[in-house]
Amino acid sequence: MASMTSVKIGNVTIGAGAPVAVQSMTTTATSDHIATLAQIDKLAILGAEIIRVSVPDDSSAAALQSIVEKSPVPVVADIHFRADLAIKSIQAGVHKLRLNPGNIRRTADVYKIAELAGKLNIPIRIGVNSGSIPGDLREKYQGVNENSMWEAAERHISLLTDTGFTDIVLSLKASDPMLTVRVNRLAAAECPYPLHLGVTEAGPRGTAGIRSAVAMGILLNEGIGDTIRVSISGSPEPEPGAGWEILSSLDLRRRFVRIVSCPTCARARLDVATLALRVQKLVEGLCLPVTVAVMGCEVNGPGEARDADIAVIGTPTGFLLWRNGESLGAIQENELEKRLIEELNNL
Ligand code: SF4
Repeated sequence: MASMTSVKIGNVTIGAGAPVAVQSMTTTATSDHIATLAQIDKLAILGAEIIRVSVPDDSSAAALQSIVEKSPVPVVADIHFRADLAIKSIQAGVHKLRLNPGNIRRTADVYKIAELAGKLNIPIRIGVNSGSIPGDLREKYQGVNENSMWEAAERHISLLTDTGFTDIVLSLKASDPMLTVRVNRLAAAECPYPLHLGVTEAGPRGTAGIRSAVAMGILLNEGIGDTIRVSISGSPEPEPGAGWEILSSLDLRRRFVRIVSCPTCARARLDVATLALRVQKLVEGLCLPVTVAVMGCEVNGPGEARDADIAVIGTPTGFLLWRNGESLGAIQENELEKRLIEELNNL
């Protein structure tokens, strides 16, 4: 049920069996191109492969050209209501638009956008959220459910396909993970377009990660979904890592260091939580698909260490460092970061 068509967003291809891409979105004012570029750079280091920016006004559209030119990853312009901002975004060189044609008042303007986007090979993502289903569809289907969401999507899709434009990506997001699952199953069965997966209004970091992992885990495991975004309230910096964690947990893609750490118990010989965070910070953005284990004691430590590429284990006399299942002996706490980097470089 993978999407039948592929779409190119700058140098990233999605759909038709291409690797599932990880997305994020900036929270800076897009009009402030320096702050926005700084956030894009950070998100790209953390693993975002496509980044969306909101374009709510003329000053944001004016900043786009500089953002697109310097961004290390493809940039998607998020547009609502105003056709002129869509046109300006395309002219600024964005790699994709996120726009709902049904929200553009004049059909002639939809044609204008589709014509220019088609000429420059700029795809358009139609994004249907459970919070914005038209009243007549809520009435027809007795509420917000997969049927009302899908028909809302069909309306937007046909406005574009009526112009001959088919370079389409679709997203159907609900705050309810299981509704997200049902509506995306329906979309995968009914249309050939690549699907961008996300749970909308997913909440702060903890709940957002869990809800997204539930919905995306089910769908991706069924072969549904071509790009993902874990939406988190607040700073977007944890978003790419959460996306990669989902892909890595499903054995779909690995890019960064995977950290394994025990939950700790009364046997712990070291502060596992603090140490795991130190290791996480150390390896942040390091493109090395290996496993580092942080284990609190000698009971389960060696077992996990044998399966990990690198392991730090608490013992009655201090830290033990392991590499590839073999003990490298004791190390001092203050040399941990230096030794870990050395050993990661030796793998
Ligand atoms: S590794 Fe040791 S400290 Fe960690 S949970 Fe297991 S028994 Fe407890």
